[in-house]
Parts: sequence; C-alpha cells; structure tokens
Amino acid sequence: MKAGRFVIDTHVHAQRFAAGGAVREALSKAATGGERWETLSHVMGGLTPYDNSARLIYDMECYGVDMGVLLPAFGMTNELNLQLVEKYPDRFVAVCSVDEYAKRVAAGEEEWSIEGVCQELDRLLGTGKFVGIGEVAPYMPMPSSRKKPIGRVEAIDNLLAICEVADKYDVTLGFHTGCPMGYDAAYSTGGLGPMTYNPLWAQDLASAFPNLKIILVHGGIQAWWSEKIYEDCLLVAGSRDNVYLETGLWWRELYAKAVQDPNIGPEKLIWGTDWGASMQFHTQLDSYPPSYAVQLRKQGPPSYQIDYWGWSLREITGVRMAQDDLNLILGGNACRIFRIEPPHNRLFREPTPR
Ligand SMILES: [Zn+2]
Repeated sequence: MKAGRFVIDTHVHAQRFAAGGAVREALSKAATGGERWETLSHVMGGLTPYDNSARLIYDMECYGVDMGVLLPAFGMTNELNLQLVEKYPDRFVAVCSVDEYAKRVAAGEEEWSIEGVCQELDRLLGTGKFVGIGEVAPYMPMPSSRKKPIGRVEAIDNLLAICEVADKYDVTLGFHTGCPMGYDAAYSTGGLGPMTYNPLWAQDLASAFPNLKIILVHGGIQAWWSEKIYEDCLLVAGSRDNVYLETGLWWRELYAKAVQDPNIGPEKLIWGTDWGASMQFHTQLDSYPPSYAVQLRKQGPPSYQIDYWGWSLREITGVRMAQDDLNLILGGNACRIFRIEPPHNRLFREPTPR
C-alpha cells in the first residue's frame, strides 16, 4: 500500500559519482574509514556526476513515491537535473545552486563574491525552470581555506543577500542543518559552514523576509542520534510562519513533538529523505532510537545504494496521526510550497489558519 495519496520526496539526489583513478588512488592512501570519508568530501566537488535516475525510478515504483524534488549537492550540476525534469516532467522538479559559477571560481577564472553568487542565482531563477535554491545556500566564500574561518556577521550578511534573490522570485530557500558525521564538515569553513550547526540563525532571515519560504533541510537530523540541532529547528519553525521543516531522516518519535505542537503541526512539515546520499543506517534495537542514519566512520563510504525510503516510510507511517495530516507531510505541503500540480484538486485538507 502506498503511504499517502500523492507522495513527494522533497530531497532527492538523482546524480552519483564514479570513483575514477585519481579518487581511487587518494582513497587508497587513507589509512582508516574516517580518513576515507574525509578524503572523499575533499575531492567530491571536482568529480563528474552521472545520471542515476534508473535506480531512482526503480525505487519510486517500488515504494510508491510519485515525485521528487531534485537537489544539487556538492559537485552535482543544475544541467543534469534540468535534463531529468525535461525528460520526466511528471516525476521531477528541481531547485538550483551555483555549480557553474563555483567551477569558474575554482578554475581561477573569477573571484568569488556574494554579489557574483546572487547574480548567478538571479540568472538561474530568471529562467523559470527552478522551484527554489538548495540544498545548501551558497553563502560560504570560495575557495574555502580550513585555516581562514568565516565569522557570524559575514555569514549572515551573505545569507541575507541570497534571501533577497529568493524573495524576488518567490521561491523556496533551503538551509542545510545537521552533520553527516563522516564528511569533513568544519564549523567555520567549508561549503556547509556554521549555518548547518546554527539553525537559530534562520530567525534573522525569517524576520527580515517574512514572506520567503524557508526550508530547514533535514530538520536538524541529517544523521546521528542527537536531538540537539532538531530542537533548535523546532524553535524556529514554531515561532515563524514562513519556516518549514524537512523531516525525512527523523525517526518515529521525532514526528510526535512537531505534529502536536500547536505552532508547528503537519502543515509545517515536508517529507524529504536525501535519497541518493551516502548515509548508512545503524541498528541498535534495545536503545533509543532503534535505528538511525549516520555515516559510519569505521566502515568508510558505502558503494551500494542505501535504502532511504524503506526506512523513512516505515518510521513515518508508524506515527498514528490522521491520514489527512500524513498526506500533508508526504505531499500536500510540497504541492503548495513548490507549486506542484497534484493529480486532482481537493485531495488535501486546507492547512489550519495560523
Ligand atoms: Zn542531500
């Protein structure tokens, strides 16, 4: 049985990387699984991705997932995602990042500036082909030096500039929250930057742009068992009308707090898993949570396609909420936020007025 009437995963990666000779050589020099994770995160931005939609569509049919929002992560291209949207308009929409600009900066053809980033976003959104910006707002200066930390005010100034562009086009803006545990995700440098550890910063952004639809990607749980960042995400979503939480790698109990909170509720939650990413799942049946997503440092990066939907759909359908509430989280809210046309009108209840 399908989990809902019209199921949309709002966090899908249809691109994957083949480890070429240079990468294999770099990985072979890593002595431990942890070093292999970190090595991979350093080279991933320069790899050429390939179209992995055949496996994605297999899983869509397997698990009854009707549509996916394609997100470019490090090294993935807008171009490949747009090709998939054009080939399968009933299955995919795409959000954008600035991969071409980043490549020009990396090649030394252009010097990074937040103005340059915003011009590129303006150009991409002006095509009308993208429904938002994500999955990481490109606010961190490039090239990144691990020995040159970026301060809070500079980071928030950059984030506000990106908000301005998203607001102009009335599209969603996603901010990555949480830590995968394997990749080298420094606190004050690198692509994710400090916003991923500080979702409370979204208070500034949501306050400055009250009509902008802000998505806290991963809802604080990209991986691991800690609820520290998740709790901060709840605070922002509960105190702002324009902030939504993506829920995919939440385990069952995490939905309850958000669904029953009168300031959050199912209207503020969107299902999105990170399909195509490289987090494994760890099982610890006698503990809480019984299983959770995490990059396992001792094992290093996996080479198989992790099954996110089987796990995530079991977790969410185990929550005994009304099906009409579940339908909002699984697709109804995404239709509204990303302007996706559902197969019929009146499939979803209207969100409770706030
Ligand atoms: Zn992702």
